[in-house]
Amino acid sequence: MSDKKIRVRFAPSPTGYMHIGNFRTALYAYLFAKKNGGDFILRIEDTDKNRQVNDAIEKIINILNWAELTYSEGVFVNSKSQFPISNKIPKFKSQNYKNLTEAGDYGPYIQSERLDIYKKYAQELLEKDHAYCCFCAPERLEKMRDLQTARKKAPMYDRTCLKLSKEEVAEKLKNGEPYVIRQKINTEGFTEFDDLIRGKVKIKNDLLDDQVLLKSDGYPTYNFANVVDDHLMGITHVMRGEEYISSTPKYTQLYQNFGWIEPKIAHLPLILNLDKTKLSKRQGDVAVEDYIQKGYLKEAIINFVALLGWNPGEGSTQEIFSLEELISEFDLKKVHKAGAVFDLKKLDWINAQYIKKLSIEELYEKSAVFFRQKDFYQNAPEEKKSEAHLKKVLTIEQDRLENLSQVGENNRFFFQDIQYSKELLRWKKMSDEDLKKSLEKSKAVLEKITETDWTKENLEKNLLEVAGEKRGDLLWPLRAALTGAQKSPSPFECAWVLGQGETLKRIGQALNLL
Ligand code: GLU
Repeated sequence: MSDKKIRVRFAPSPTGYMHIGNFRTALYAYLFAKKNGGDFILRIEDTDKNRQVNDAIEKIINILNWAELTYSEGVFVNSKSQFPISNKIPKFKSQNYKNLTEAGDYGPYIQSERLDIYKKYAQELLEKDHAYCCFCAPERLEKMRDLQTARKKAPMYDRTCLKLSKEEVAEKLKNGEPYVIRQKINTEGFTEFDDLIRGKVKIKNDLLDDQVLLKSDGYPTYNFANVVDDHLMGITHVMRGEEYISSTPKYTQLYQNFGWIEPKIAHLPLILNLDKTKLSKRQGDVAVEDYIQKGYLKEAIINFVALLGWNPGEGSTQEIFSLEELISEFDLKKVHKAGAVFDLKKLDWINAQYIKKLSIEELYEKSAVFFRQKDFYQNAPEEKKSEAHLKKVLTIEQDRLENLSQVGENNRFFFQDIQYSKELLRWKKMSDEDLKKSLEKSKAVLEKITETDWTKENLEKNLLEVAGEKRGDLLWPLRAALTGAQKSPSPFECAWVLGQGETLKRIGQALNLL
């Protein structure tokens, strides 16, 4: 690698949410920049006016902030103090978005604010005969494509306007006919580029389309803007999704046309559903925001997404990585070519590992909002909503949670009165009389324990002392009486959470059934 400072960018289009795939691109770019002491830059690619969504740029920035993927240059939200922007670099207000500030020497960092730049470079290509004006109406192009598709050919511009004479073009321009600027592809031979993940990629030039560079509204296409911007912003390494691989030779030709050095490029593998189709909304959530809302922890999401297409390589079985560990371990050479399967079970497992590591205080702070959404919580008496009670519930649930939206779900009996039939109390073939005796025995033990001794350990010790050989005879009826459920945590844990008063009350309720 040359000693030029590494500069990588995350260049999302503002669509209103952060797709998991985009988040992975951001993460890999960030890890690569940090590992190599480089710059990480946020550029906004808002050239598709039809897809603009309110606050979409802020949403992107919020997710980067949430994940702490610190960038030093690009687009920032004014009002929030987030990543420290160095005093050494110029800051300026966005022209097009009043909530945004830009910072850095290579601005503007929002493509809609760079239209003059794209025009200038499109003009340069026209002059060098690497581009031409195309006046074809959208209807004509549509017909052309339909015909090509019907003939089982890949839709491609048929170069009608390339045949126009200079005079014809001048005349049309003079008459104000709408036009786009197209790249004049070199259709001879092959174009080759080096992919950091795949090695050499070589594509036959006659497969390449004379793509639009500048649209009739003066906006550039992504296909043009990415080249101009990556060059002008001094980007050394580009990471983007595999779906761009077939377009890259066209970008390579543009770099050649301008006489610019092409950045190094890595196409990241597709992210797939379990059935190996491309990750889509139809099969599950695709937005990072959805997973946050479901109670997946930041550390777990980052860890999981990092493993979508990368692992530290042979000999390592490590699956849990902090962001710091990812920075030191990450290596583009170990990114896979094959699609990465999005396996929710794995995310659950990783999340569970991170939940287990939290202190009760932390778990409570992160879970409170999820409790508040639950109807069983909303309808619970005040004492059951208390911090102390929730912390007890969480102590019992901590090792069983896969995400925070599960809190309390399997143990609603901690929040509400229970109803069940006598049969639930029955262990094996115990008679009603035996059940009664069993519950009375538990009651006698539990009554004697003082409030300060009401700990899980003490409850277990005292109950087991009297349980005898057939533990189930004592423990099942008690557990059922406390929970009204077929399945639950142990009776000691449940009694501990419920407290002595409620425990004895529920045993009384059970005895009344017998
Ligand atoms: N704006 C493009 C996208 O959101 C970025 C592709 C790239 O990173 O070059 O897909």
